[in-house]
Amino acid sequence: MAKPTVTPMMEQYLGIKEANPGALLFYRMGDFYEMFFQDAVDAASALDIALTKRGQHMGEDIAMCGVPVHAAEGYLLTLIRKGFRVAIAEQMEDPAEAKKRGSKSVVKRDVVRLVTPGTLTEESLLEARRHNFLAAWAEVRDEAAIAWVDISTGEFRVTPCPLSRLGPELARLAPREVLVSEAKEADCAEIVSDMRAAMTPLSRASFDSQAAETRLLSLYSIGSLDAFGSFTRAEMAAMGAIVDYLEITQKGKLPLLRRPVHEDSGAAMQIDAATRRNLELTQALSGGREGSLLNAIDRTVTAGGARLLERRISAPSRNLSEIHARHDSVRFLLEQGRFAEDIRADLKRCPDMDRALSRLALDRGGPRDMAAIRNGLEQAERIAEAVAAVEAPPLLAEAAKALTGHDDLTALLDAALIAEPPLLARDGGFIAAGYDEDLDQTRQLRDEGRGVIAKMQAEYIEATGINSLKIKHNNVLGYFIETTATHAEKMLAPPLSERFIHRQTTTNQVRFTTVELSEIETRILNAGNHALEIEKRLYSSLRQGILDRAGPINEASRALAEIDLASAFATLARNEDWTEPTVDDSHAFEIEGGRHPVVEASLKKSGEPFIANDCELTEGATPAIWLLTGPNMAGKSTFLRQNALIALLAQAGSFVPAKSAHIGLVSQLFSRVGAADDLARGRSTFMVEMVETAAILNQADDRALVILDEIGRGTATYDGLSIAWAVMEHLHASNRCRALFATHYHEMTALSAKLDGVENATVAVKEWEGEVIFLHEVRKGAADRSYGVQVARLAGLPHSVVERARIVLDALEKGEREGGGKKQAVIDDLPLFSVSNTPQPAAAPAGPSELEERLKALIPDDMTPKDALNALYELRALL
Ligand code: ADP
Repeated sequence: MAKPTVTPMMEQYLGIKEANPGALLFYRMGDFYEMFFQDAVDAASALDIALTKRGQHMGEDIAMCGVPVHAAEGYLLTLIRKGFRVAIAEQMEDPAEAKKRGSKSVVKRDVVRLVTPGTLTEESLLEARRHNFLAAWAEVRDEAAIAWVDISTGEFRVTPCPLSRLGPELARLAPREVLVSEAKEADCAEIVSDMRAAMTPLSRASFDSQAAETRLLSLYSIGSLDAFGSFTRAEMAAMGAIVDYLEITQKGKLPLLRRPVHEDSGAAMQIDAATRRNLELTQALSGGREGSLLNAIDRTVTAGGARLLERRISAPSRNLSEIHARHDSVRFLLEQGRFAEDIRADLKRCPDMDRALSRLALDRGGPRDMAAIRNGLEQAERIAEAVAAVEAPPLLAEAAKALTGHDDLTALLDAALIAEPPLLARDGGFIAAGYDEDLDQTRQLRDEGRGVIAKMQAEYIEATGINSLKIKHNNVLGYFIETTATHAEKMLAPPLSERFIHRQTTTNQVRFTTVELSEIETRILNAGNHALEIEKRLYSSLRQGILDRAGPINEASRALAEIDLASAFATLARNEDWTEPTVDDSHAFEIEGGRHPVVEASLKKSGEPFIANDCELTEGATPAIWLLTGPNMAGKSTFLRQNALIALLAQAGSFVPAKSAHIGLVSQLFSRVGAADDLARGRSTFMVEMVETAAILNQADDRALVILDEIGRGTATYDGLSIAWAVMEHLHASNRCRALFATHYHEMTALSAKLDGVENATVAVKEWEGEVIFLHEVRKGAADRSYGVQVARLAGLPHSVVERARIVLDALEKGEREGGGKKQAVIDDLPLFSVSNTPQPAAAPAGPSELEERLKALIPDDMTPKDALNALYELRALL
């Protein structure tokens, strides 16, 4: 039996693999990245590519699969989306070098980068209009903080964040990857996975606050962090972990990070994860962007603007002067329609400078990224001039300032680069003629050489008298002279054979070279290589020139995003007929003719009108609550949500879908929907509903806006009603906030008489020939009945069932009118519910049956929906 051996290559592979645990290893072999062993099995199945074998290791076949280098990005994207991390090991030397060391020598390879969800920079791996955040959460003694960075734009922020706020913060940022200390892994795992982010545990050393300070000081080449503000130990630890992780994944090449910004936790409207989900702010309940608020209102024309919109929608402001300044600029752009249009045309031509810059910083960019910066800065200059020519409000004027002062760099790039340079620097050809004398000369030499060859061909035709003779080029022979086989004899015989040296005979052709041709070829080749070298050198210096201006470029692109967003809001206001809201420090909530932007847009597609509705919570009353009743499908949820969205949009700096709106600053926004099915997370739906409601009752302050939709629906009628009732009383007495409360429990309408500031409202329906017609009109007052039976009919329930339901309902209502205690009697009177005609068992069994025993042993609170379903199957089987 052959002795198991480890080849030198396998030895290298296993070494690299061991040094990069937890990552799939892309091992570069020529034009492919190869994967071996379990990696190959996993990747082949994730990528749906062929799994093969390559030699043996310790007597066993080695599983292998591979992807071509030129198509690797697409495969990487799939792997990252499926939750893999990928280590990319490149060949660090020319294979010829390795051969020189001996035939057994392996090409040097090393991991140049670890690709993880939070550290992407490639255009094809990123969504242009969304941020790609990497977050780190740290706890040091009794302080905790979260830091986050988008390495594709350089944005770096930090804010205090106790564990209890980790969920909401992650919901706001929606990071792709979250770093936590190994010691805190258990505390965070569920919160992070709930947010569908990848969690990456790091050693405690990565989170060491002392080491963090050192890392940050060296990253920014400063002597003290004071220049950036003061940071707690926890904040430092979180930022330090991010820097450490970037060093690990980028293998020493650090991305450009802007100076860290300390975010004040009170600066933004607080919106928790459940509210974001319910209101479908950036993602629809169905999962995609389609159907979300963001999708319905996005009129930005630059990627940076789109990302800013997402940030604003995720974190509306609580600062009145900031909100007013934003409204001022939207109003200005709305009034100056022509000017706004011109600016948008310029903005449309602005490339994504942030991302181009970050690729250049990581040395993953190319000439096209440089052109993006050149074009972006040129547009910025034009926009700045346009803004300077009008009386712009402060926010726009301030932004315009950051757009100027880049003349030197723009002039440099303009002179240096051709109009549309290639993606990569590798093949050259991107430096414009006239920029570098050396390069021009070398290129001339190269091109002249080509001209000389053309002349040479004419001369050889003349010398040989063979008209079909040609000088051609291929990668194997380089330049050669070619004739057909019929003419070859003449050239193979003297005197021509003295000049023409035979090189190759193919079926139909014979190929030759000459001394002059070889010489000229060498000259062309040398000139070509030399030109490439010069271009590469120029590339490096241009790159440095750009990176030296990274700060101001970042500022410019931030300003462009701000202008884009203001003009997008203005466009939205003009096209959709939105108005400027009044936001002040009162407790008002007066919306006249409000609409739901997403529902309205979808109705528009089918040509149906959206009925605008008012919402006027009693002026000056704290609390001020509306109790909304009305049948299913009347439009209660839509009304509730539209009011929440109007407040959110107003504070995000937008105009609002209403005739008029007066909103006293909202500090927190809460939205809950009763019994939302949450099977995915395996919790009892009612439990979820109660946990979420508890969070509101515990947190809402008197500036909160609370939207409760059918709370209590997830349990039996009387339980549900009692809970809804008590929740309402608590909101009224303790939270004292503004709230809209939709319920189908008519009994609750009695509360308005008992509690100050509580008013009834209802969504009107009309009954016509036994059918309901939804008017979608919200009016003050209580609904007289629920119309459930009519709605059931509309839904297509069989006629006999609807009729039967009507009889039961009549009987129940009659019983209720005659006194609550009679309900049971009424039920007993109905044949449907009567047990009298059910055959009785011959003799009751002694003691509880097995079925009853099993049933008794179940503890619903401890069961997931899946457990419950399984139990149901088992119980059924016992019948
Ligand atoms: P409810 O919460 O009362 O069951 P919804 O708010 O879900 O009702 O609304 C049901 C449907 O009615 C919506 O999908 C929408 O198509 C339509 N609708 C709701 N409000 C309006 C409105 N104001 N104008 C026009 N159609 C509306």
